[in-house]
Amino acid sequence: MMNDGNATLNQLKEEVHKLCLRKGWGVEGVQDPQHVAMAMTVEMSELLEHFQWLNPEDVQALMAGRDPERVALIAEEFADVMMYGLQLARTLGFDITEQVLRKIDIVDHRPPKPYNPVR
Ligand SMILES: [Mg+2]
Repeated sequence: MMNDGNATLNQLKEEVHKLCLRKGWGVEGVQDPQHVAMAMTVEMSELLEHFQWLNPEDVQALMAGRDPERVALIAEEFADVMMYGLQLARTLGFDITEQVLRKIDIVDHRPPKPYNPVR
């Protein structure tokens, strides 16, 4: 069984591509990246909906593992966001790992922001 510990992002890109082929989505399983980017924000909103109107105690319960039902709903929407992200990276031909590491380096080396972000 694939999981975060043994799967590669390339494998996941291909799993999403195979789903698109099975479903007949896009041209030969490749959907318009503009549409994919827009769909990604819709899925991000669906993820955020599960946080809407939570009070700090609710968030603490999530973090402490006391609300597994809500975590499952969040995880499912996260998967939708991630699947579009994987599709976007595959279609536009960029390497997710290279881009994340590049961005970490950029953030690491840029001057601090003039405000203190909330923890
Ligand atoms: Mg969704």
